[in-house]
Amino acid sequence: MKVYISVDMEGVAGIADWEQCLAGGDDYALGRDLVLGEVNAAIDGAVAAGADEILVNDSHSVMRNLPPAALGARASYLSGRFKPLYMMEGLEGGFDAVFMVSYHGSIGHERAILSHTYNPSAIWEVKLNGIVTGEAGLNALVAQHHGVPVALITGDQATADEAQAFMPGIEAVVVKRSVSRFAAESLHPARACELIRAGARAAIERLGELKPPTIAVPPTIEVTFLTADMAEAATALRGVERTETRTVTFMSGDPLQAYRTFVTVVTLTRGLGE
Ligand SMILES: [Zn+2]
Repeated sequence: MKVYISVDMEGVAGIADWEQCLAGGDDYALGRDLVLGEVNAAIDGAVAAGADEILVNDSHSVMRNLPPAALGARASYLSGRFKPLYMMEGLEGGFDAVFMVSYHGSIGHERAILSHTYNPSAIWEVKLNGIVTGEAGLNALVAQHHGVPVALITGDQATADEAQAFMPGIEAVVVKRSVSRFAAESLHPARACELIRAGARAAIERLGELKPPTIAVPPTIEVTFLTADMAEAATALRGVERTETRTVTFMSGDPLQAYRTFVTVVTLTRGLGE
């Protein structure tokens, strides 16, 4: 039983500010400690349900937020910058389940702590097949390509809500309630970890009922940027069309290719922020 874990950081119980989840932030050490606890809880739950191989893909910011020796012993750790498949690097068809741990809501969500969709300095909104989506929905494209169910997601209630659109039946563990983009009421970390452990275990135990994501193919992705320049730059890619001053659209018959184009658009527009 092989489990793939994509780990973000804004969805961790106790985190409510960028200072707690960006390297150099005055409270980053606290954030690292908290995210490690949640990842290990997910690993423990998966192992308790029979997982014997786990890959942890660090998907947040500079993607080296976890101390490798402190990770659950069955986990290998994929870390560091430029991963072509970014938050989903390393996933392949041999995996039995995907977990999305410490995820957060999309930039378009009404009430989501530290909301963003890949890059808050460039992306104002993303729609997948006409539905506003965040990172979870986009990342689900890769799981769908490989035919692997996304079994567990953890974060705030916005994260849990948004996941249902493309991953029906997913086990969602809510560890905090977003009050605004910069305030949240979190469970005690010990309680959050307890729920994640139980959720991970339950997700693996009912894997037989879970299907890979259900994104209608071919997926259409619509990205609205903060500035017109970003939309202009994105059209340099084949198949990316400008539909509004700041909006581009693209589609692909293959969910993986659609995701790759999205990642390339993110990379391409990164240098155009202020
Ligand atoms: Zn994120």
